Amino acid sequence: MGAMVQDEVVRVVARARAAQPAWAELGAPERARRLAKLKDRVLERADAIADCLHEEVNKPSVEGLLGEVLPSADLVQYWTRVIPDLLEPTDVDLDSIAYPNKSGTIFREARGVVGVIMPWNFPVALPLRTIVPALLAGNAVVFKPSEVAPRSGALVVGLFAGLVPDGVVGIAQGGGEVGAALCSADVDLVVFTGSVTAGRAVAHACAEKLIPCALELGGKDAAIVLADADLERAANGVVWGAMMNAGQNCASIERVYVDRTVADAFTKRVCAVVLSLRPGTDVAPLATSAQQAVVQGHIEESTKSGAEILARGSDAPRGSYPPRAQRPAADGETHTYPPTVVQVHGDDSPLMRDETFGPVLPIAVVDGLEEAIQRANASRYGLTASIWTRDHKKAQRIARRLLVGVVTINNHGFTGAIPAAPWGGRGETGWGITGSPLALDALTRPRFVLADRSRAKRELWWFPYTPALTRIASSMATLRCSSRGLLARAKALFSLLWAMMARAREG
Ligand code: NAD
Repeated sequence: MGAMVQDEVVRVVARARAAQPAWAELGAPERARRLAKLKDRVLERADAIADCLHEEVNKPSVEGLLGEVLPSADLVQYWTRVIPDLLEPTDVDLDSIAYPNKSGTIFREARGVVGVIMPWNFPVALPLRTIVPALLAGNAVVFKPSEVAPRSGALVVGLFAGLVPDGVVGIAQGGGEVGAALCSADVDLVVFTGSVTAGRAVAHACAEKLIPCALELGGKDAAIVLADADLERAANGVVWGAMMNAGQNCASIERVYVDRTVADAFTKRVCAVVLSLRPGTDVAPLATSAQQAVVQGHIEESTKSGAEILARGSDAPRGSYPPRAQRPAADGETHTYPPTVVQVHGDDSPLMRDETFGPVLPIAVVDGLEEAIQRANASRYGLTASIWTRDHKKAQRIARRLLVGVVTINNHGFTGAIPAAPWGGRGETGWGITGSPLALDALTRPRFVLADRSRAKRELWWFPYTPALTRIASSMATLRCSSRGLLARAKALFSLLWAMMARAREG
């Protein structure tokens, strides 16, 4: 790692460290009042944000608006409204006999400086999903955008100009080496979203420093289509779930398990929907050449092992409103990949095992629900999954058996845009939670304060240790916790009184 990279990151983190206490001192209601203006800023700059996303990562403007701008405005609205209550101190239940004249309170305090390292696929909405609650909780933030989307990163940081004191939101631009430098700088927490490989490196670096990290990594989401599904809705929904953002979405549908009895009808509908997608308007070119190579490789390997291409859409721009033709991707070239439907027979190929991150929809036919659940669960990832059925009771039962963090019934993947809903996974998807009050568990630390108003000169359990003390402790435990009968409890009470008198005589 270059010394200059390290020095620059250290400098930005030091500024954040110096600025954080005054920001925290303002209190949650004042921080919320200041950041509430962010919502208007996001909406006023909607076109500029959508343009930047289009130019930098090829996002169609509708997806920029629906997937990044509007959810970010909702996010600000939600967190600025709920944060004062969520950070209110809470009292702890204390047994007044065991702990007389004492009260205990939990305060939720800022962690300090939070390092936020993000990917390119939602380069505005994803960072804001962490930065907004992190700031509202009183933290300072140093944000490391993806090297593929540096302008979007600068735009995110620019949204806070004048709303927070200088230094409270810092930016460190660059590639993996800058992310690594941030993890080893003076930060108190790293919130990372990205690939498993980089996530592992972040986890190692944080373990070395004994600081926590939250990891939201890859996915291989399954959709289960049951025999009683509304096939038209399922086909439309599954294609959207697989192809939105050209499939470059951690919660993209990358495997479909459809019941044999409806497989033909469902697959025909899916192919028709895919063939109707307009390149450049509905499905954009991929963002990088690396991504194009992965998608190409997965398709080639799976067809070699028996998979069949059922439909391949067009990748030439057409449609009602693509005045923006296919533009060069972040690396200066255009990386189109046509939306593709593949019939697969087993799960033993990269297309069914690894993250494809492209506009590809593999469909596998299953004989009944048990096979669908078993194959859906046989993944090292566990982000989201969807169940398509008209039987909601059955769907709820299936939902409890799927090894993922989010389950949607007759829909897919969109709940990442709901700020009150938790988002996170299991397995190699990691353990980070964004969204919902649960996100504050990482962004804050609890401080417990116990106040003792006792006037006694000595607590029962202080020195000297004597037989009377032991007897008091045992009889109190029997009285408080034992399920023994009345006689035993009466004996414990008598023993307690006797021991208390003995303890009093000890001075
Ligand atoms: P990536 O891991 O290549 O990069 C992510 C970020 O990590 C970038 O900013 C990069 O510069 C940085 N980085 C790389 N190496 C690092 C290191 N050693 N230490 C610290 N930082 C390092 O991922 P990507 O290609 O930008 O994004 C795609 C991945 O993100 C996919 O796997 C996708 O599933 C995942 N993702 C997950 C979620 C989720 O919520 N679970 C959301 C979006 C994307």
